[in-house]
Amino acid sequence: MPDITVLRLGHRPERDKRITTHVALTARAFGARRIIVSTKDAVLEESINDVVKRFGGDFQITTGVNWRRFLQDFQGTVVHLTMYGVPVDEAAPRVPEGDVLVVVGAEKVPPEVYQRADLNVAVGNQPHSEVAALAILLDRVFQGRMLQRDYQGAQIKVLPCERGKNVVELSKQ
Ligand code: SAM
Repeated sequence: MPDITVLRLGHRPERDKRITTHVALTARAFGARRIIVSTKDAVLEESINDVVKRFGGDFQITTGVNWRRFLQDFQGTVVHLTMYGVPVDEAAPRVPEGDVLVVVGAEKVPPEVYQRADLNVAVGNQPHSEVAALAILLDRVFQGRMLQRDYQGAQIKVLPCERGKNVVELSKQ
């Protein structure tokens, strides 16, 4: 299975707080291992780390990273989500095992990202959301396998039920 890192470009803490949080939570829930956010945002780090602490797993967040250098130094396959790319159905089977970097934007993404990417991938050719695009790409790559899995070290676990909420407290680590 690919080891996926998500790179979030252009995060503006005041404006994109909610959506970047959703990008990170979606990355975690759909099977990525870590997220790198170009802008420093301690509040964002804290809120994602709090989810990891309660719901488990080893998802990591780092903010304030020089994205140009990170992209330049990255050794694996770079996948850039853009509505101008090739259809996800065509691209997902071409995502290899090993280290994969999935790049999502917020504002306009610089042309060098399109050039550096091994795969520019479109989830439809209409503009929508980085959250939706990321969820669909990861789900296609992992073929749905990441949605039902155990998270090590969880303090709480949700048990599926037809109505209401069923949450169990596990022993604290
Ligand atoms: N206006 C920006 C531009 O031209 O680059 C894009 C803004 S869009 C709200 C933010 C991000 O969502 C994009 O950078 C891309 O990663 C993702 N995105 C939006 N629509 C997409 C689509 N149809 N397929 C893949 N990714 C998409």
